[in-house]
Amino acid sequence: MILALLLARKGVTVKLLEMHSDLDRDFRGDTVHASTLEILDQIGLADGALELPHSRIQEMVITTPTRVLRPITFKRLKTKYPYLAMMPQESFLNYLLGIASRYTNFEILFASTATDLCRDTKNKVVGVEVKQGSTKFNLMCQLVVAADGRFSKIRRMAGFQARDQSPAMDVAWIRVPKREGDQDSFAGFYMANGKLCILLNRPDTWQIGYVFPKGNFAQLRENGIEQLRSSLQQTIPWMDDRVLAINDFKDVRVLKIKADRLDKWYSEGLLLIGDAAHVMSPAGGVGINFAIADAVEAANVLTNRLLQNSVSLSDLAEVQNRRFKPTVTIQKIQAMMMKNLAGRALGAKDFNLPLLARLLLLIPIIRDIPAKIIALGPNPTRIEDP
Ligand SMILES: Cc1cc2nc3c(=O)[nH]c(=O)nc-3n(C[C@H](O)[C@H](O)[C@H](O)COP(=O)(O)OP(=O)(O)OC[C@H]3O[C@@H](n4cnc5c(N)ncnc54)[C@H](O)[C@@H]3O)c2cc1C
Repeated sequence: MILALLLARKGVTVKLLEMHSDLDRDFRGDTVHASTLEILDQIGLADGALELPHSRIQEMVITTPTRVLRPITFKRLKTKYPYLAMMPQESFLNYLLGIASRYTNFEILFASTATDLCRDTKNKVVGVEVKQGSTKFNLMCQLVVAADGRFSKIRRMAGFQARDQSPAMDVAWIRVPKREGDQDSFAGFYMANGKLCILLNRPDTWQIGYVFPKGNFAQLRENGIEQLRSSLQQTIPWMDDRVLAINDFKDVRVLKIKADRLDKWYSEGLLLIGDAAHVMSPAGGVGINFAIADAVEAANVLTNRLLQNSVSLSDLAEVQNRRFKPTVTIQKIQAMMMKNLAGRALGAKDFNLPLLARLLLLIPIIRDIPAKIIALGPNPTRIEDP
């Protein structure tokens, strides 16, 4: 959506395919970090986005029965947006769609699935086959951008192989009601009795991620909803009877935690960005922000080339070049977070950060580095011609 918007506002003709008939993405990528707000601010869209219902998270806190640790604090960061905005993705996308739709050269096709790639005699990608209900047609174009997410069909159709780095755990997302007097500006991790929960503050509810060893969901179901409720109560004691709002497993959404990366994100006529190029684990909630940064660099490099009908393989390589290192860096940091948080918490009697991490977090010039990398990215991206 962001790439389509950035290209459309410069006069490039864009058709955005969405296989669903709306933009409803419950539980998906609601964590809008300062990096994205700064980008939106460059084109005058941050204020409008911040008028959408959202909550503001200023720190990520680790709570165990014996201690409270504060490894990530956004409020000291030098940015206009020293917080994480929890913004339901549906309203965020609809806001962007409203702006993009002002350009007559932009069109979104809902309920339209890319089912195959069209190639010319030299094997260059020259379009996609689209399925709309029972109709199929070919949409020919100068460049296909695959931004089709973690299950990217285009990645598969193009024959790209990913390096899998998935951690050995999955997460069940659950929603429980907020109450008057609940703390407002924090999110975090709760760890007790070998269990780990992620707690996110959404505008209207608490979102809980119950982390469990990969592949154990069938066991969780078998144990029953009562046991899940009681695990949540033990891990986050102040949830008390709020967990009664979880009626059955229909209220529980499982996210299979995946992390992978392609070595090459392009071929003639085709570019992959976002999760299609690199599936991000949920650690730090950076997934949408990295997908957006890819979109911005793609627009930076390709807008004029598209207008001149002269996109070359080296332009596509340049997009990957700009985004590859930050992606590798953040994925390494995410793997470290998963190992040192989830890995140490699951099944353990008590949790503490490694001694070295605790000591480093006491040093003022070092303590804000984790928050800075998560909020602003290892290599902040800017729109070059806002
Ligand atoms: C349950 C869950 C929770 C998550 N929580 C967070 C979070 O809190 N914070 C965060 O930053 N990240 C989170 N992520 C990751 C985040 O959602 C992704 O990193 C981010 O959305 C990637 O953006 P994208 O544009 O690459 O892909 P997506 O947002 O996945 O968008 C891909 C789009 O392409 C459409 N599509 C797919 N295939 C086709 C096709 N063949 N034809 C047409 N359309 C197609 C899909 O319907 C979808 O709308 C979460 C992911 C999941 C699964």
